Amino acid sequence: LLRKLLLRPNRPQFPICRTACDFPLKKYDVIVVGGGHAGTEAAAAAARVGAETLLITQKIQTIGALSCNPSLGGVGKGQLVREVDSLDGLCGRAGDWAGFHFSILNRRKGPAVWGPRAQLDRERYRQFIQAELLATPRLTVLEGSVEDLLVSDPNPHQPGQHRVTGIRLADDGQPVSSSSIVLTTGTFLSGSLFLGQTTSPGGRIGDPPSCAGLSHSLREKMGLRTGRLRTGTPPRIVKKTVELSLAEIRPPDKQPTPFSFLNKQTHCKPEEQLPCYLTYTTPGVERIVKESVHLNCHIQQDTKGPRYCPSIESRVQRFPGRSHQVWLEPEGLESDLIYPQGLSMTLPPDRQLCLLREIPALKRAEIQTPGYGVQYDFVCPMQLSPSLQVKRVQGLFLAGQINGTTGYEEAAAQGLWAGVNAGRTALSLPALSLSRTQSYIGVLIDDLVCRGVTEPYRMFTSRAEYRTALRPDNADLRLSPRGFEEIGCVSEQRYREALRVRDSLRDALSTMQSISMSSARWREKLADVNVSKSKSTVLSALELLQYNGVSFEMLASAFPECLSMYLEFSQRLKSEATYLPHCEKQKQEMERIREEESLSLPLDVDYFSLPISLSQEVREVLDNVRPHTLGAATRLPGMTPAAIVHLLNYVRKTG
Ligand code: FAD
Repeated sequence: LLRKLLLRPNRPQFPICRTACDFPLKKYDVIVVGGGHAGTEAAAAAARVGAETLLITQKIQTIGALSCNPSLGGVGKGQLVREVDSLDGLCGRAGDWAGFHFSILNRRKGPAVWGPRAQLDRERYRQFIQAELLATPRLTVLEGSVEDLLVSDPNPHQPGQHRVTGIRLADDGQPVSSSSIVLTTGTFLSGSLFLGQTTSPGGRIGDPPSCAGLSHSLREKMGLRTGRLRTGTPPRIVKKTVELSLAEIRPPDKQPTPFSFLNKQTHCKPEEQLPCYLTYTTPGVERIVKESVHLNCHIQQDTKGPRYCPSIESRVQRFPGRSHQVWLEPEGLESDLIYPQGLSMTLPPDRQLCLLREIPALKRAEIQTPGYGVQYDFVCPMQLSPSLQVKRVQGLFLAGQINGTTGYEEAAAQGLWAGVNAGRTALSLPALSLSRTQSYIGVLIDDLVCRGVTEPYRMFTSRAEYRTALRPDNADLRLSPRGFEEIGCVSEQRYREALRVRDSLRDALSTMQSISMSSARWREKLADVNVSKSKSTVLSALELLQYNGVSFEMLASAFPECLSMYLEFSQRLKSEATYLPHCEKQKQEMERIREEESLSLPLDVDYFSLPISLSQEVREVLDNVRPHTLGAATRLPGMTPAAIVHLLNYVRKTG
């Protein structure tokens, strides 16, 4: 008999072994396939909204594994982590527990685009995620591989429409029933690993790929369009063989900033943090890459890789003659390994060693695990609705790398949202969407379902047109109240905290608005303040706070009796004040987008026979994607302003 490990909440030990025979197979509200960054958030979110959930993953020990770089957050990605946290997701708190080098990236720019980031201890991160799942009520975890999805025959009244009914396990072919399934197979769907001239089946080093049946089913049974993408990872280097003194030291921030709104501090104390190091490639590195092209089958493929996290081979090809940054990052507080960020490669192992040794700090380096590449299937995400449900397969949700994204944060954000909607659908509640005016998660999902992907998609602040409103510091106010009141995935504790913060900020802003005096008097009151207005101009404390060089602490020391109680929000108040005029201006435009998003387009409309003036090309795009709302239609590639006006008139007339 095959052995399966079954984790159940409230059990005293972790894990508990069971055999296939006594696994209590039953019907689950939601089944999540895959225990990576998307799957863990999906499973926890589905359980939080009240669904009895089963997470099935190939290996329990790899739940929460960081397949590539041991870090979380960054520019654009940090915003996603904050938003996942605001909806009570796991990754922010896990980052605070496991981080040992915290820094805010992009500090030279405004706080709207700051990127909270942390270097993580791999082991600690994994352990935190596993412990959280274990403590989640209504969640069961099963070690196993899903071989196939069970779907009903197409509905004769809606040709091509399927409905999921469950999954089939690989080892013994057992079915498990569910009407809501979240598929989060990451880099494992028909995954192949590449190292030098060798290729082998695999989803990640040491792990087999997803069963071929799954990919086949998605394509052949359900008729979904799939594509192929690739990514790669650098070799892991033995720390004691690295001469860190030959690299530039990059210390963390003196005061670590937690990801989670529930944490006042990180687990790692400020003085216990470890530095990272920066070094550069040399001409020798370029020479070895060029000499070894014929030994490197991964880079000879046409498959698209991550543009913003390229391999050293791609960097050398695209920017010859340049020296490239290499970050030397510890893999953990006690780890004896270094992760060389920037040196992702797929050369044969002996060539990898030669390449590393061309860099002075790595001239004695020893490799623990060589770098390698992976290619995998993804499902073209324009086939999904904004709830992340596959349009033509009722009850099937997709999240993470399977949708063509790259990165833990992008996976976690989609996982959370797919889990919420899978749970709600199973409980007969309506599926929900997040607008791009509300969150980076909304931007991510909207980009995927309206624009699709041609290369691995990663988040940037530039993708969010309303980024001054979607700041990392205010994710809690944007999402936690809705998460509790409407979505049902946020705890009462977090909700109460968000309300406390919201009320305090509102009071502080109105108090500052009520304090006003001439700029001459402000100059007297705050000795150092540089107000470049005429003497008689009257300014409120709120307007003054918009000036560079004016901090909330300065105002609180001038008016301690009415402002000092808000000192814990100093940075947030500065950001609120700074962006207030800009956000006011954007409000109208955001309202317009929200209005367009509230105008639903019927999903079963026949665009080819619609009696309005649309070009054949536009009709094809609309038929292909079937946008849910007018807002989504405006963002489809190939849509024209005239077509939008005709559609708007049509929706108004029929709606
Ligand atoms: P994953 O984290 O891959 O998790 C998938 C999970 O599903 C695994 O636990 C797997 O065991 C399980 N699973 C798969 N199929 C089945 C099945 N049939 N039954 C049961 N369980 C199943 N990201 C970057 O941002 N930059 C990079 O440079 C980068 N490089 C990478 C290099 C490599 C070699 C790899 C493997 C990944 C890299 N990543 C990179 C990607 C990053 O790891 C992913 O974006 C992220 O992990 C995706 O999360 P996910 O949950 O979608 O999938």
